[in-house]
Amino acid sequence: MTLEKNGHQFSPISADLKNMPADRKNKKTLPVQPPLATKANPDDETAMLKNIRSRNTSSDFLKSQFIKRRLNNLAILIMACLLAALPFAKAANAAGLIRDAEAENLIRDYSIPILQAAGLSSQNISIHIINDKNFNAFVVDGRNMFINMGAIMQSKTPNQLIGVMAHEAGHIAGGHLSRLRAHAAKAQTLDLMLKILGGAMLIAGGAGGGKDLGKAGQGIFAGSSYQTYRSMNQYRQTEEYAADQAAFVYLTRTKQSARGMIETFEYFASQAIGSLKYSDPYVLSHPLPRARINQLREKAERSPYFNKKDPPALQLRHDMVRAKLVAFTSQAGYVYNRFPNSDQSRPARYARAIATFRSTGIKAFLPKVNKLLAEDPNNPYLHELKGQFLLESGNAKAAIPSLKKSVNLDPRAAIIRIMLAQAISQQPGGGNPDVIINHLKKALVREKRSAIGYRLLANAYGRKRMIGEASLASAHAYFFEGKLQDAKMQAKRAQNRLKKNSPKWIQANDILSFRR
Ligand SMILES: [Zn+2]
Repeated sequence: MTLEKNGHQFSPISADLKNMPADRKNKKTLPVQPPLATKANPDDETAMLKNIRSRNTSSDFLKSQFIKRRLNNLAILIMACLLAALPFAKAANAAGLIRDAEAENLIRDYSIPILQAAGLSSQNISIHIINDKNFNAFVVDGRNMFINMGAIMQSKTPNQLIGVMAHEAGHIAGGHLSRLRAHAAKAQTLDLMLKILGGAMLIAGGAGGGKDLGKAGQGIFAGSSYQTYRSMNQYRQTEEYAADQAAFVYLTRTKQSARGMIETFEYFASQAIGSLKYSDPYVLSHPLPRARINQLREKAERSPYFNKKDPPALQLRHDMVRAKLVAFTSQAGYVYNRFPNSDQSRPARYARAIATFRSTGIKAFLPKVNKLLAEDPNNPYLHELKGQFLLESGNAKAAIPSLKKSVNLDPRAAIIRIMLAQAISQQPGGGNPDVIINHLKKALVREKRSAIGYRLLANAYGRKRMIGEASLASAHAYFFEGKLQDAKMQAKRAQNRLKKNSPKWIQANDILSFRR
């Protein structure tokens, strides 16, 4: 599991550098990765907030309009992945995205039947997990659904989370986004809207102490932007009823219960009454009058699936992901409290194994993960975890077999394949560049914006003295890190070496023609 922010990938646990055990401290950690900025660091947070505030200006408006026009002109030239990187990066960068194959696969498995039942399968909706422990799930367009890590952590059953996702799918299918889009036009393009949403999540994440989001928000956003955020983030009640009804239909069509959705709504309705946790963004964007829940419950209880439970195997996957998220993003002490030794369930031991690596190091971690692996040898994510921690503790060579095994068990998991390429290139002697290039080419088809993937590719091409290809890969790495000037410099260098009008030369040209 890694944290993706501003095009960089971090190990969420590298934030614990101070408490790092000796056997990790002195060894090489992941390269090309600046230290993690977490919410725990008040200076970073202040800087981020300042950044958001200073960018909310009218010249920004002109600039974003300009970007939009330019993008329209260049749309044919520029690769789809370059385009996709733009608005998306803005939302992701405030809090960062959790990148984890296990969690992403689980969420994808939850979404597939629901999106199909909603008639949305053909829209290729991407689901992103935001590094935010507050409960929230939202859609901003017809192509992206955002789920806060907190929504996964706080959903006790798959059914609870699936219910929330079904409700969001109801908003997409119901066309409730057109109003959002109209607001977005007013709010200076989708680009800025994503920025605002990102900023709002940051605040809800605790900058102002949380209780009075209204006041904290006013401080952050210059008046009108904040009002726009509030108004566009608050669906109309009629739309809420419609999304509930749609969700109920999708759940019934897929033979699932609406119980989880109602449980979630009831939880938030009870919180909304004078609770300290009122700041949960989901409550703000989804007002939950009692009448609405009652109406939904009445209908749901008549469904033949109301009492249907999630299959035990799915519940286990859900619990494993929840345990992992807690373990990766909380202090080790908290993890041991939440999952005490008396709990010998697999998720609890998974969480403790992760916390053990953080608090004690690789030596204490290995027997724990090996025991889990002995019980579940074909779990790609246990192999990934072992490989990742070996890599992070400077044992790149030892990490390779685990990461290879993981990739073989889940060949679609491009983020794991990139980690494998990293381990191969970090082992003594640097590994075979052709093997590295082969893995990266496969992975970058799926992970189109992976700066670290392109950086590793550049190194591998460099070792083969393929300077044109190396420069192009560097150009992409810089581009996805948002360093446009460096990207252009490398693209120019690439063009000097590549055959004119060849596909790679054109890719370099796309970066050179890019204006913002
Ligand atoms: Zn809603």
